Amino acid sequence: MLPTDSALVLFSGGQDSTTCLAWALKNYARVETIGFDYGQRHAVELTVRPQLLQSLRAHSAGWDARLGEDHMIDLSLISAISQTAMTHDIAIETQANGLPNTFVPGRNLLFMTVAATVAYRRGLTVLVGGMCETDFSGYPDCRDDTMKALQVALNLGMDTRIKLETPLMWRDKKQTWELAEELGGQVLVDLIRSGTHTCYLGERGALHDWGYGCGTCPACALRARGYHQFVGAEV
Ligand code: ZN
Repeated sequence: MLPTDSALVLFSGGQDSTTCLAWALKNYARVETIGFDYGQRHAVELTVRPQLLQSLRAHSAGWDARLGEDHMIDLSLISAISQTAMTHDIAIETQANGLPNTFVPGRNLLFMTVAATVAYRRGLTVLVGGMCETDFSGYPDCRDDTMKALQVALNLGMDTRIKLETPLMWRDKKQTWELAEELGGQVLVDLIRSGTHTCYLGERGALHDWGYGCGTCPACALRARGYHQFVGAEV
């Protein structure tokens, strides 16, 4: 057990957040989850969440005992105040500032802040998020420094001692699969492979060896490459 014993995991139903949830279930005595409906163009992620939670409970009696309440929060205001390819029907492309237009400005800042408010009410002392600086699309709100600064701001602003944990921060996608294997063996790898959803386009037709998805959007490409490196296939 880590020193602080209760955690709230930002759980979207994707590969990264599911791995983070397994990591939290291994490390904390009490774990709750939070998900955000922010008007995603394709809400497939949200529909796979309940099934994933059930599968994680079935994975081990210990995890079942530790996993508590799931909080779904309506953050539809994000799509009302931003114009991005994640929330509107526009093509994915790189913007003049070098960032892809799948970047939703302020999203992770808002997610963590809302999570901190819920954690405050629930008496949870750690927030766990799948932000990653190693293998990302250049999103500035996934940076380690952003999260560290936010931790300071939240604790000052709420007079708390909440810790922000980002277990994937320095892992690439291959190492994220390795972490899943370490935490829950092949059963967890298979669960993440077929149960999670990452594709930006919401494609869930065919099950590839790396999971469901269109195979060509940036999220699918990253996930497929990481999986193939993980299993030692040619990439
Ligand atoms: Zn895709």
